[in-house]
Amino acid sequence: MQKQDLLYEGKAKKIWSTSDANLLISEFKDDLTAFNGEKKDSESGKGALNNKISTELFKLLESKGVVTHFVEKLDDNHMLHKKAKIIMIEVVVRNIATGSLSKRLGIPDGQVLPFVLVEFYLKDDALNDPILNDEHCMILNLVDDVKELDTLRAMARNVNSILKPFFFDKGLNLIDFKLEFGKDKDGNIILADEISPDNCRFWDVNTNEKMDKDRFRQGLGGLKVAYEEVLNRILK
Ligand code: UDP
Repeated sequence: MQKQDLLYEGKAKKIWSTSDANLLISEFKDDLTAFNGEKKDSESGKGALNNKISTELFKLLESKGVVTHFVEKLDDNHMLHKKAKIIMIEVVVRNIATGSLSKRLGIPDGQVLPFVLVEFYLKDDALNDPILNDEHCMILNLVDDVKELDTLRAMARNVNSILKPFFFDKGLNLIDFKLEFGKDKDGNIILADEISPDNCRFWDVNTNEKMDKDRFRQGLGGLKVAYEEVLNRILK
């Protein structure tokens, strides 16, 4: 399957059309951005690592019955996937408090949450991705029916219930992550985007070392080594 027209260029991926109207190609870029694009850099090989990691995780989730947009990995930086109309909600799942949650609510960094927290944020850089409640989602017409918000929450919790023990077994604590969903040609909600250390937080179970994009956000260095380690542990 060949790339045709460039449909969209985001911060970490380019999306291409193909000869099949129901299939798209994502090209994983080496670019890194944080703080809503204020901090920028590039790390050679990062895109290929995220493509590999996402591929493995989509395959795992599919094997457990989660419907995703994944079709196949084409080469180092390209993934073939189903076309889906993206729901403009960033669905964040949290097991342990850190990042914006700790900052906003004063919950100590690293505190285990009493239950899995699912939050919705508006996918809108110009507005700085504000947090949403269900009524905001309905007012903004982000979903067609309020019940779809429950579907998003249930799917996100299911993904967490698969990925959290999978990573713990590999010596990584899955702290939090962001998912995006879309609607396929039949209107079914499917998991889209990518699942990689760019949008998940992983802390080593023994050392609490950060193995994700926080290495870039916090200027810790060693980002590629950490992503390679995540991939190696997934493959073990
Ligand atoms: N996240 C993401 N894209 C965003 C915002 C957050 O992928 O635009 C991910 C982030 O990597 C983390 C989780 O969602 O795994 C929760 O992020 P948080 O709200 O704590 O935001 P941050 O502290 O990164 O601003």
